[in-house]
Amino acid sequence: MNYISTRNSSISFKFEDVFIKGLADDGGLFVPKSLHKYSQKDLLEFKNLEYKELAKKIIHPFIGDFMSKNDLSKIIDKSYSVFRKQNVVELVKIGDRSVLELFHGPTLAFKDVAMQLLGNFYAYYLNNKNEKINIVVATSGDTGAAAIDAIKGKENVNIFVLHPNNRISPVQRKLMTTGKEKNVFNISVEGSFDDCQNLVKEMFTDKTFANEIKMSGVNSINWARIIAQSVYYFYSYFLVEDNNEPINFSVPTGNFGDVYAGYLAKKIGLPINKFIVATNQNDILHRAISNGSYNVENVLETNSPSMDIQIASNFERLIFDLNDHSDKKTIDVMKNIKEKGKYEIQKEILNKIGINFLSSKMDENEVLTTIKTVYEKFDKVLDPHSAIGYGAIDKVNVKGNNIVLATAHPCKFPDAIKKAINIKAELPDELVSILNEKENYDIIENDLIKIKQYIKERI
Ligand SMILES: *Cc1c(COP(=O)(O)O)cnc(C)c1O
Repeated sequence: MNYISTRNSSISFKFEDVFIKGLADDGGLFVPKSLHKYSQKDLLEFKNLEYKELAKKIIHPFIGDFMSKNDLSKIIDKSYSVFRKQNVVELVKIGDRSVLELFHGPTLAFKDVAMQLLGNFYAYYLNNKNEKINIVVATSGDTGAAAIDAIKGKENVNIFVLHPNNRISPVQRKLMTTGKEKNVFNISVEGSFDDCQNLVKEMFTDKTFANEIKMSGVNSINWARIIAQSVYYFYSYFLVEDNNEPINFSVPTGNFGDVYAGYLAKKIGLPINKFIVATNQNDILHRAISNGSYNVENVLETNSPSMDIQIASNFERLIFDLNDHSDKKTIDVMKNIKEKGKYEIQKEILNKIGINFLSSKMDENEVLTTIKTVYEKFDKVLDPHSAIGYGAIDKVNVKGNNIVLATAHPCKFPDAIKKAINIKAELPDELVSILNEKENYDIIENDLIKIKQYIKERI
């Protein structure tokens, strides 16, 4: 498979470049030049596969000659053996909807599903190349932990994680900062997640710096993450499928990575009906999808911090798609967003969005009320992000069976759970010890030069 940048469709890249670079040199996102499409018959073959076997089938066409089928198979088995569930994820019924629990990995959020695989992709790549690289990544709380767990202790790679100081939950922070491996560095930036994300983007765009430190990225724009995430859409679809009822996915959304992975699954043939883009009060995507105004506002702090985002990076991939793969039009739109903080989506394009996407927004009280209602009625504790996905179904008009993605374990957000239902959300036994371990992180100003300096001194 060949890839192009959303900002230049005339140069082709292989999976290896796409994976290692993360972001294209022109600032665009990598997308496949063209896509295969599974037939009804192919889908029938996928239907009864175990998660790992299904992952091998779905991921293989995307990676080309990056590794052999046999190596991929070993890496997938290894990556998914660290999950607490045999089939990586678990589908449970809560009321009239199915809830897909994606948080049974080492750091208790869906990001483990992609990140464990990426960690082993890096190890494979670096082992064959004899190269040393530095991963730099911004996190709103969960990506960082998942990336650290996947990279810690691996050879020839360091990881630098930027998180917004005091804006992630203590459990989220401890999952990142209590490790003892020497190749892990935590930077607590005095700013928001968008600030962290911008800092990383600027480091990438500074070619001299990026080349000097051999910088690589695992943010949600990394294509390898998208393909790993599309697997669970297939897996859960087949579990819910019954006599031609349409199937919808409700996806708690921040950076538009997870829901884009579902959209990719649909593009390669999985007949999903609608995606419900479920946002918190940082509702730029809800405003974009419901009335066409993608206007950047200030980031609000909410009880679902992993979705406290105003710039949904992966949205560029959708913009590219909706503009008939025109790099010129994508560049124009992105320039407008960067300079004016605005993108008014034309009616025609908005109609195209509506074919696949619905959206909703929840304020702080609605999130707490949803957690409370679900707990009282069904004796299940949802984390605030998953509650936003769960409640979104009641706010949109959609027919069929609904699958809600549960993106994090409730114990990552104990304050919100306490407030909603007055119970203590306990960590799984194997993780309780992190609560008392010493933390390791440095607080640094939101200042590009200082952060570059910090990184240079440590590699
Ligand atoms: C990252 C994250 C999200 C948002 O996912 P995107 O791919 O950024 O849209 C939702 N819930 C949780 C718990 C997360 O960690």
